[in-house]
Amino acid sequence: KFNTDLGQHILKNPLVAQGIVDKAQLKPSDVVLEVGPGTGNLTVRILEQVRKVVAVEMDPRMAAELTKRVHGTPGEKKLEIMLGDFMKTELPYFDVCISNTPYQISSPLVFKLINQPRPPRVSILMFQREFALRLLARPGDSLYCRLSANVQMWANVTHIMKVGKNNFRPPPQVESSVVRIEIKNPRPKVDFNEWDGLLRIVFVRKNRTIAAGFKSTTVLEILEKNYKAYLAASNSETMVDDRKASMVDVVKELIEKVLKETGLSDKRAGKCDQTDFLTLLYAFHQVGIHFA
Ligand code: SAM
Repeated sequence: KFNTDLGQHILKNPLVAQGIVDKAQLKPSDVVLEVGPGTGNLTVRILEQVRKVVAVEMDPRMAAELTKRVHGTPGEKKLEIMLGDFMKTELPYFDVCISNTPYQISSPLVFKLINQPRPPRVSILMFQREFALRLLARPGDSLYCRLSANVQMWANVTHIMKVGKNNFRPPPQVESSVVRIEIKNPRPKVDFNEWDGLLRIVFVRKNRTIAAGFKSTTVLEILEKNYKAYLAASNSETMVDDRKASMVDVVKELIEKVLKETGLSDKRAGKCDQTDFLTLLYAFHQVGIHFA
């Protein structure tokens, strides 16, 4: 009956379901976005507390079951089901997001929330335990990775509760955790793609030095291309022409200079905190090196 390819593990424990909804501290005026409502075990509880629920569900059978479940109840008029893939759906405004997340889209879902023009006040999301721990990991922790550094730039993440696999039907392979994500408002004044671009380079191997990450030919080629674009945009065409052949050497020199001046050359990404990465990004921008 359930399609586990779509991550269909229905939350059966009513106490856990109510716990998740209560953690959102919903207001009667709220519009709530739910990702993957399934048969509606969370949805019916959310509907009791708010003005409107927008539920994005990819499986038409699930959407039909949910429609049937709310039919004739006071929640019926408050529920809008959007049939389709959450990642491809243009979202309306919402105050809060609640999701027992289909695990395949965990990471893109988090970034879609972060990049909403008006991000939600709070998101209460169930993830695989390891994914949740990655979101929470701090520099030096074994699970600290690009995801941790990236998400923590834009949001504050806290652990709410562990949920064992036997609370689901069918039970998934792994344990789960519920986290709260509060997207920073106002948004840090950093370009998302620049920040992401830098992290992609330094976290290729988080236990190698920052300097090692900048030795790869592919990385140098991209940075050279970006550098040329930067020079062109800042009206330095002559310089581009004169030094075309040796541009990659110019870029290498600039990288070395930045790494030396910031003192981060020999530090490992896995040990760097947000200030370290911001220091790097700022210093690179100062010399015209860009990541996106
Ligand atoms: N919320 C329900 C619950 O807690 O019992 C069901 C959760 S189940 C883990 C995930 C749900 O997300 C399934 O109903 C599945 O069909 C749906 N789903 C999977 N991928 C999706 C996608 N890309 N967009 C929207 N819904 C999706």
